[in-house]
Amino acid sequence: MRYSIGVDIGGTKVAIAVVDADGKIIEQTKLPTDLSISPRELIVRINEAIEHLIKKSYIEMEQMIGIGIGAPGPLDSRNGKITCPPNLPNWVDVPIVAWMNEKWKIPIRLENDANAAALAEKWIGAGVGVNHFVYVTVSTGIGTGIIADGKLLHGRKGNAGDIGHTVIDPSFGKCTCGQYGCLESIASGTAIAKRGSDIMGRELTTKEVFDLYQQKEGAIVELIDRIFRVLGVACVSIINTFDPEKIIIGGGVSNVGATLFNAIQDYVSQYALNPTGRTTEVVPAKLSQGAGVVGAAALCFEVMSDSE
Ligand SMILES: [Zn+2]
Repeated sequence: MRYSIGVDIGGTKVAIAVVDADGKIIEQTKLPTDLSISPRELIVRINEAIEHLIKKSYIEMEQMIGIGIGAPGPLDSRNGKITCPPNLPNWVDVPIVAWMNEKWKIPIRLENDANAAALAEKWIGAGVGVNHFVYVTVSTGIGTGIIADGKLLHGRKGNAGDIGHTVIDPSFGKCTCGQYGCLESIASGTAIAKRGSDIMGRELTTKEVFDLYQQKEGAIVELIDRIFRVLGVACVSIINTFDPEKIIIGGGVSNVGATLFNAIQDYVSQYALNPTGRTTEVVPAKLSQGAGVVGAAALCFEVMSDSE
C-alpha cells in the first residue's frame, strides 16, 4: 500500500493526516495556526507533527509517496508559494514547498484549499466518476474548485475559481474587496450571520439565523430566500460558463440541507441557458470534516488518471 500526507492549513488550525491510496485517514492530528510566530517556525512545527504521525502510523518512509498541502489563496501553486492570504496575514510570499523540501525528500505539492476539497470529492466523494463538476464551498468565505474535462482547472498561478468576488447584486452593498455586491459578501456564512444580526438587532451566529428561518421569522425568511436566490444566480453562471454535470456544494452553510438545495435546483431548472444545463444536479458534498486533509493528500495520488 502507498500512503501520502495531507496538510490542510486554515486560519485557525492546521490539520495533518496520513492517508492511504483509497483515501482513508490512517492517523491524524491538529495544531493551532499560531499567527504570533513566524511562518518558518510554524512550518517547523508542522514538520515535527508529520514526523510524529509517521512514527505513530508505523508506516515506512519508503511507502510515503509525497506531501500535499492545501492552503487558503491567493497563492502560487506552480512555484509552491503562499502569496498573500487574508486569513494568514503574516504569510506573505512564503515559499512553503521549498522550505519543507529542506526537511523531506519526497515530492511536495501545494494547491488552494477549494481545489484540494474538489479533488477529495473526485476521489472518494460526490464527484467519483464525474469528469465535469464544480465544487462550491460556502463557509466563512465562498470558493470553488473546478474539474473541467476531467482535469482540475488551475489558471495562471493556481487561483482559478475564486468566485466569491464575482458581482451578483450590487444592491447588497460594498464588499471588503471594494466592489459592490460580491457573492461572498452576500451569501457566505459570515455574511449571513452579519445580515441576520442587523435585521434582528442582536448578535446571531449563522446557525441561529437558520434556526429563525426554520421557525419562519418573517424578515429572516425574506433575507434567506433572497440569499438562496443569489446562490442560484451564482450556480446558473457556473453552469453557463463550465457546462458541468454536477454542482457539489460543501462548507458549513450547506448543512442547512434540503431547503437550500431545493431552492438552488429550482432556480437552475428555470434559468440555466441550455436545456441540459437546467437538469444539472446540485448535490451536497460527501466529505465534511476530512475534506481538506484528504484533498491535500489526493494531490500526491493520481486521482484523475482513471477518468481521462
Ligand atoms: Zn468582493
